[in-house]
Amino acid sequence: MGGVLARTRTPVVSGWFTENAADGGGFRLLGTRCSACTAVFFPREDAYCRNPRCPGGGELAEVPLSPRGRVWSYTDGRYRPPAPYVSDPAEPWEPYTLLAVELEAEGMVVLGQGAPGVEVADLAVGTEVEVVGGVLGEDAETTWVTWQFKPVGGAG
Ligand SMILES: [Zn+2]
Repeated sequence: MGGVLARTRTPVVSGWFTENAADGGGFRLLGTRCSACTAVFFPREDAYCRNPRCPGGGELAEVPLSPRGRVWSYTDGRYRPPAPYVSDPAEPWEPYTLLAVELEAEGMVVLGQGAPGVEVADLAVGTEVEVVGGVLGEDAETTWVTWQFKPVGGAG
């Protein structure tokens, strides 16, 4: 039969998402929530609560974020986006659709690229999208996994 050696699926950033959410929801972004003020952070904040109105004394616990949100802004990604979006500066830049998505429950805006095939023409401000796992790149041993957004019900 022959075959291809299985590559290890490795998150581009450790701890920012899971491919098997504890609630059975599949791919989810992971943030942290302060037990004192319920503020949610993404990228995750593990050191201390950054809410200036926090009464203090809370614990930061990992929480899966909303699986869906609505497009807040979008563009052709013809530039390398800023943090918290992660890309390998050694790789040539490939244009793609870049989305800023307001997550359903948290109301926070998260940047991410569109899933393969998602184009600007598929999107409008307010389009409902879901978070999905996507492949950022591969080498001999590793498939680098990141998060992407695609319109609910499929692209195009
Ligand atoms: Zn807090």
